[in-house]
Amino acid sequence: MFDFFLNVIGRDMGIDLGTANTLIYVKNRGLVMNEPSIVAIDKENKRILAVGSEAKTMVGRTPGNIIAIRPLKDGVIADFDTTERMLRYFIQKVHRNMAIARPRVVICVPSGITAVEKKAVIEAIEHAGARSAYTIEEPLAAAIGSNLPVDEPTGSMIIDIGGGTSEVAVISLGGIVAYQSLRIGGDELDEAIIYYLKKENNLLIGESTAEKIKMEIGSAFPLENEGKMEVNGRDLVTGLPKTIIITSQQMRSALEKTLNDIINSVVEVLDITPPELSSDIMKRGIVLSGGGALLKGLPERISRETHCPVFIAPEPLGAVALGAGKCAEDFNTLKRYLRYLR
Ligand code: ADP
Ligand code: MG
Repeated sequence: MFDFFLNVIGRDMGIDLGTANTLIYVKNRGLVMNEPSIVAIDKENKRILAVGSEAKTMVGRTPGNIIAIRPLKDGVIADFDTTERMLRYFIQKVHRNMAIARPRVVICVPSGITAVEKKAVIEAIEHAGARSAYTIEEPLAAAIGSNLPVDEPTGSMIIDIGGGTSEVAVISLGGIVAYQSLRIGGDELDEAIIYYLKKENNLLIGESTAEKIKMEIGSAFPLENEGKMEVNGRDLVTGLPKTIIITSQQMRSALEKTLNDIINSVVEVLDITPPELSSDIMKRGIVLSGGGALLKGLPERISRETHCPVFIAPEPLGAVALGAGKCAEDFNTLKRYLRYLR
């Protein structure tokens, strides 16, 4: 009875604390928040000036006394204090009475995370006001959130490509059978574009511009309609603003090395997958989630290299949060997927 009471008041929630975006799912309400994991801070008095989308607009444009921080790096907490403050802000945004409510929280962590890193996530959540925090491995959450038959004795492969990490996992009978967790993702693709334009065109661009180029004309496989784009930056020779035209073919070659690293780890995971399960994957296909899944031509590319069909998850950007949310919705049944550290 008491538990029931807490449940209703507490509104259990699932959180995807990503390097790029944080999503919150609240029991009985669904996905209620999706904001960039960014905090703008006043350097002098350490006050938070903006969090989430408002802070994102400040990246690369802040005056000297303001810094825009991404407190997570490579999938893990790089700046504990700021992560905790950001989480508190987000949770309060969806849950005004957090202090009274004290919900149970299911939070996703990368599969390759160390015990120390995991403890930091749990502490940040508990300090932010949760009654108790449970973790779920991201690929498992992504698979649950993509409606894959995780409990069946069938192999399902999920590839989640986020901002700072890529996770490749084979799941069967409710557990991860084989996996690799790479600390590279969409951010490295942006950096590869910055590097390419610096080297080939003497043009310096910022992170936001690089991300925009990636989304607009970046690709992993030859496109039916190859495209062009105008890019503004700073000429490294003259120091003056400069505009150039870049093509999708050029950007494909810029992204090639990083994409290869991701694809190699997919091939390596398939290589260590028990043969019964790999034949399931060949038949049923590989599912892509995370924002990186939206890179043009990625399904075709992975399909060519693995000889498996490849699909994009129904909600690539929400998959992990939806999976954590399903666990929060049906806590007692899905508890077996969760870890509770004390
Ligand atoms: P995280 O889980 O690390 O928070 P997300 O799953 O939210 O990351 O994905 C964010 C990443 O996806 C960013 O690197 C972003 O640039 C990339 N991304 C989002 N949309 C696209 C797109 N249409 N094409 C290519 N990359 C994309
Ligand atoms: Mg993610």
